[in-house]
Amino acid sequence: MGDRSPVEVATFLHPFEADLAQARLEAEGFVAVVADARTALPFPLHFLALGGVRVLVPAEDAPEARALLAQVKRERQAEARVCPACGSPRIAARRLFVRLAWVTLATIGFPVGRARAQWRCRDCGHAWRD
Ligand SMILES: [Zn+2]
Repeated sequence: MGDRSPVEVATFLHPFEADLAQARLEAEGFVAVVADARTALPFPLHFLALGGVRVLVPAEDAPEARALLAQVKRERQAEARVCPACGSPRIAARRLFVRLAWVTLATIGFPVGRARAQWRCRDCGHAWRD
């Protein structure tokens, strides 16, 4: 048997986020518990002092559980299309590469550049490509 003592794999500011993480872990076969959730609702300041709502798994499962939660986080960011720098959903697409292809098609006879979207965050100005 490996080490089954509970260790923290994630902390959340909101109990519902911890519940979602726990549900996802259990769906993948992990044993996971949420700690401090009851403290969170009636006593928010006390709860913040404790460091948020914690999700615990047996120590031997912790590395895999952390990897799964990191994967879930990446998936959610990709779905929501938020700024990778600050997390803002206020982003705008720019189609610079499409335009470049039309210009080169008109001038040298074949398109250069691929039709990849470039994204720009309206809040922090961060720019990135798909
Ligand atoms: Zn941003």
